[in-house]
Amino acid sequence: MTTIFTKIINREIPADIVYENDYIIAFKDINPQAPIHILVVTKKEIPTVNDLGPEDRILVGEAYLALSKIAKDLGVSEDGYRIITNCNSYGGQEVFHLHFHLLAGKPLGAMLSSN
Ligand code: 5GP
Repeated sequence: MTTIFTKIINREIPADIVYENDYIIAFKDINPQAPIHILVVTKKEIPTVNDLGPEDRILVGEAYLALSKIAKDLGVSEDGYRIITNCNSYGGQEVFHLHFHLLAGKPLGAMLSSN
């Protein structure tokens, strides 16, 4: 099944795209949780981290290189930021297409909410 993120990759629905290469696309989250909230999405449709295989080794490396580059380009690399990937129900995953949240722009506080 085509995910909403694949529709963004294919320009079937709009998004505020900040970076793209052969492996990933990066765009602003529609419901930002921090002053800067970028989603780095793999172009390959992988539902969750559980579905990664050895063949995805380069893809995951490229995703992290893109995250590092985007943080530098946005000027947040020195202050710092957080990268999150949610997995399945307990992780709170909503879109089953592998992605990395890049959150920045203010002190982000404790890693988990208190509840
Ligand atoms: P997850 O909960 O799966 O880790 O994160 C999915 C994220 O995708 C959420 O933060 C949500 O706001 C974002 N999102 C869902 N649909 C869209 C969309 O159509 N466009 C954009 N830009 N972000 C979306």
